[in-house]
Order: sequence, then structure tokens, then C-alpha cells
Amino acid sequence: MNGFRELVSRYGSPLYVYDLDEVDAAAVALRGALPESALLYYSLKANPHVLVARALHASGCRAEISSAGELQAALAAGFAPAECLYSGPGKSSEEVAGAVAAGVRQFSVESAVDYRRVAATAQRAGVTAQCLLRVNPPTARGRGGLRMSGVASQFGLDAEQLVADSGRFAPLPGARIIGLHFFSLSNAKDADAIAAEAVANIELAARLRVEADVDLRVLDLGGGFAAPYAEPGHRVDYTGLRSRLAAALDDHLPDWRLGAPRVAFESGRYLAGGCGSLVTTVVDVKRSRDRVFAVLDTGINHLGGLAGLGRLLPVSARAITGAGGEPHGRTTLVGPLCTPADQLAREAEMPALSEGDLLVVPNTGAYGLTASLLGFLGRPVAAEVVLRGGIAVEASRLELRRVPLATTGGGA
Ligand SMILES: *Cc1c(COP(=O)(O)O)cnc(C)c1O
Repeated sequence: MNGFRELVSRYGSPLYVYDLDEVDAAAVALRGALPESALLYYSLKANPHVLVARALHASGCRAEISSAGELQAALAAGFAPAECLYSGPGKSSEEVAGAVAAGVRQFSVESAVDYRRVAATAQRAGVTAQCLLRVNPPTARGRGGLRMSGVASQFGLDAEQLVADSGRFAPLPGARIIGLHFFSLSNAKDADAIAAEAVANIELAARLRVEADVDLRVLDLGGGFAAPYAEPGHRVDYTGLRSRLAAALDDHLPDWRLGAPRVAFESGRYLAGGCGSLVTTVVDVKRSRDRVFAVLDTGINHLGGLAGLGRLLPVSARAITGAGGEPHGRTTLVGPLCTPADQLAREAEMPALSEGDLLVVPNTGAYGLTASLLGFLGRPVAAEVVLRGGIAVEASRLELRRVPLATTGGGA
């Protein structure tokens, strides 16, 4: 892959490279694993780059967004406001008002307070919001992955609370509940885990429709689809999921094939993860006592920062230049930041590295640059270049700039 060297000479290092052909392939693979009539939402938080999002829109996805910035990115990528689902546990009236003004009508609401706030905001704008009620199921079924609910959680409303007091979710002047939203599991590599969770949520939705009198026009089953992150690997094969999901829907919600309810899924990392590579340059190689450190021009400011300082992610990188000689034992990959937390890999098996070599961290298309500590130590942000058919179609750099806000009181 000499392409990376050439891209770095053109756009600088470090560099995020996104390959749109991979985005298309991921969308085709995931659609193939889901019931044919299902809607698929792309969660822009995985990578809001406009061209990545635009490719997913072209592949037939809708947009799952949870901030004004993501809304702006979705609209710029060509999603119609009617194709956007606005979610999140802490939506302010201001951001809901902004979304309503932009034409968004579908919201996921996470509590009675959230529902009333969305309703009041929509009512002030003279419209009715169509809300999915996010539900926290009573138990966790699928194992593995990152658990979002099925336990005590800040996400959603406990199913028991909905049954006990469903009156709080009756239609209001500015909003009505038109379905249920589950997102109980994330990054589950095992298709069985995803199927078990989805099947349990299908059963629960059918029960809530009766016991809590939910108008179930939409059933958003979330996702949990896994992707390798900053380590080598391929998309998980979820073939077989389609028939298991369809069977459970046939059992519990037989009219789903007629669109009653319309079934939806969501994914961020599966759709975007595989398209991205972070290319970085070795700035220095040094030995300290019994260890070898390769100092890179990128670190936790550009990758992995979301996990919090001090937590080492299982990042691994592949050398693409250099002596290509004997593996030279274990090398710790560190970034340029002045904190011992700035490590991308500890004691990784690497070839002998020297100054100027390039490394590529694969599978960094999701939760990469925009999930990082961009502003840390005021270092310039990695550029991003987007490829289609191997050709660079766009290159840009995010600029972080300070925007003055109004202050009260004295002044010059
Ligand atoms: C983060 C999130 C997603 C996307 O998660 P992935 O693991 O990237 O697929 C989908 N839906 C909701 C509600 C989320 O918060």
C-alpha cells in the first residue's frame, strides 16, 4: 500500500484516510443481514464526515443524530430532515427547537420529562413531534459487547415504569408516541448475542403494545453490530441474522411485513469502522532501560481519547515502510503529547522502526478523529482524505477555533 505514502506526502502526517468503497461494502453487508424491508439508521457519532455520511445516505440509510452538530452534518450530507431520528438522553429545549426548525419531526425520548419537553418545544413551533420511546428492558439477554441497558442505566425508561404508568406517554398537543426504541447492546461480535437481544426486545415490544397501550407504528431495534477498532480484522459476518429476526417478528408482530410496525436498526461502527486508516510517522525511536519506544506524530489526541486518559486501548499498528527486517521484539508506540497516558500500544510486536517510517492503524473509520481529544496540547489536527476507487476526492482539516461569546458587565 504505497498509496498511503503518497497521500501523506500530499496531505501531511498524521492523516486519516477514508475509503468510500469500504463504506458501500459495509452497508451492503449489513443490509444483507437484516430483514429486507427494515430501515437502517447510520449513527453519525461514529464518523460525521460529510462524505462518509453522504455515501451511507446514497446506500439507503437514514440518519441517527444526537446533537446540533450532527444534525448539521446530516443535512450537509443530503439526509432530508424527515430521514433524521434525533436521540439522546439529555436533549435541551434549545437543541430540540433548532431541530424542529430545521424540519426534524422524529425524536427518541428517554423519559417522561424528555417527552414533555419535546412536546412543549414542538407545540411552540406549531408542529407535532413523532416520538419513539426508548425502553430499557428488564433483563439483559445477549452477552458480550458494551451494555447500554438491561441493567440500571441512564438510557431509556425502564419497561416496568412504562407499564406501571403509561398515562404519562399519552398523546400531547405537541407530540405523540409512535413506537419504541431499543439500543441495549453495542459492539457485540457474536451474532447469537445480537439475535438473542433483538428477539427479547421484539417480544417485549409486542407485550408493551398490549400492556402499556403503545401505538407501535415503528419498532427501532437498535443494533450492536461490531467492528474491529484500531486493530486488524474484517467485518463480522452476520449472515443468518435476517432469518432469525424475521422469524421472531413473524411470531410476535405478524403484520410487520405490511409495515405495522415498520422495523428499524441502527449502526455506527459497523458501517464506518472499516473504511478508515490512520497513517502516522515515526518521529523518534529510543531505548530506555529494557524497553524500546517509538515516538509517533499522533497519539491519544487523534485516536482513542474517548476512552479517557489513562486507559490503554487495544490499538495495534502495522508498519508499511522501514527496514521491514526482523521483528525487533516489543515496541511501545507513544504519541507526541507530554503525558505518560499518550500511548497507543504497549510492547507491541513490530519490525525494527526508524525515524521517518510510516505506520498505519487500521479500522479507524469509526470513533476515530472526532471521538478524540482534538484540542489536547493545542496540536494541529490530523488531516482527513477521502478515497473513491482509490482516488482522493476530498481532503480537509478540521479547525478548532475559539468563538467569542457575549459577556455581561464591564469591558473596554
Ligand atoms: C452510539 C449509538 C449507536 C451506534 O452505536 P455503534 O456501536 O457505533 O453501532 C446507535 N444508536 C444509539 C442510540 C447510540 O447511542
